[in-house]
Amino acid sequence: MAEIFITDLLIIGAGPAGYTAAIYGARANLSPIILTGLQPGGQLIITNEIENFPGFSNAIQGPWLMEQMAQQAKNVGAKIINDTVTECHLQTKTKGLFTVLTDMGNTYKARSIIIATGAQARWLGLKAEEELQGYGISACATCDGFFYRGKQVAVIGGGNTAVEEALYLTHHASHVYLIHRRNSLRAEKIQQDRLMKNPKISIIWDSVVEDILAESDPPSVTGLTLKNVITGQSSTLPIDGIFIAIGHKPNTQLFQNQIDLDEEGYIKTTSGTTKTSIPGVFAAGDVQDKTYRQAITAAGSGCMAALEAERFLSSLEK
Ligand SMILES: Cc1cc2nc3c(=O)[nH]c(=O)nc-3n(C[C@H](O)[C@H](O)[C@H](O)COP(=O)(O)OP(=O)(O)OC[C@H]3O[C@@H](n4cnc5c(N)ncnc54)[C@H](O)[C@@H]3O)c2cc1C
Repeated sequence: MAEIFITDLLIIGAGPAGYTAAIYGARANLSPIILTGLQPGGQLIITNEIENFPGFSNAIQGPWLMEQMAQQAKNVGAKIINDTVTECHLQTKTKGLFTVLTDMGNTYKARSIIIATGAQARWLGLKAEEELQGYGISACATCDGFFYRGKQVAVIGGGNTAVEEALYLTHHASHVYLIHRRNSLRAEKIQQDRLMKNPKISIIWDSVVEDILAESDPPSVTGLTLKNVITGQSSTLPIDGIFIAIGHKPNTQLFQNQIDLDEEGYIKTTSGTTKTSIPGVFAAGDVQDKTYRQAITAAGSGCMAALEAERFLSSLEK
């Protein structure tokens, strides 16, 4: 039977940002409710090894880290509910409460909301991409570059992210191929200059990935089949790792026309805060961050959002 829940703080999304907000919110006695969506734990659920989340001397597993965060949030009093938000009413309040509807038919009424719905990397759409994520295919050089010390890698894309990823990977890889389907890059000129000057980077122009070559035991990438879009010729490039850098898509469809988004669909926040265009609604993690996109920065902004929500709620009482 459909239920109605009333809360001071509703958190939408259960990645590092959402769980951290829940921990801080619960410890501030706000009895937060966190709605997990379809991926409780968020993006790190599909990650094998994490070496850059502070506090662990050895690599840890993504699902394990997220289970610890969920348990910590529960232990301090957050209520975690496996349900997905289908509709939000952020521009109108009834008796000081925002209304949020979910897939299970329930209604949540909240005095404040933290949006932490994350973002998704855009993929090429090849079957092998899904099978080999974490086994030679990645969408995050900062996260996984370290695993390719002394190896040959390819970055797919031609924008700022692709160029940044390629430059970052030169700190680890023996050689980096940047593969772009056009004959010029969209990245800023200064970034392009750095790229061109770097002896560890070669650019393969006018080329698209036709197939990913891999071994199954253990699963690992061995190369790429490329097609030149001008000549139509196919070629093979031996490679140990592939970084797809064709952009990210923030999960903000629900909030379109309700809250200010930037031209790429990320939630706009007031600089140095997690405040959105609607008082009482805060945004944390990848849904508002196209620069860093890391678990630790998502967790940090989740903390900020909970502290700001607590201050907002206190101001209502005056
Ligand atoms: C393969 C991979 C490896 C990575 N490795 C690392 C790494 O080693 N180190 C690192 O620091 N970072 C890594 N990252 C990046 C890191 O995972 C993200 O920066 C981080 O997860 C962002 O956290 P978040 O809380 O903002 O969002 P997410 O983790 O994206 O979580 C979003 C949450 O929102 C929920 N949600 C979405 N829509 C709805 C809805 N309608 N209703 C309710 N809930 C909803 C989802 O179910 C999910 O729980 C990696 C990312 C990927 C994809």
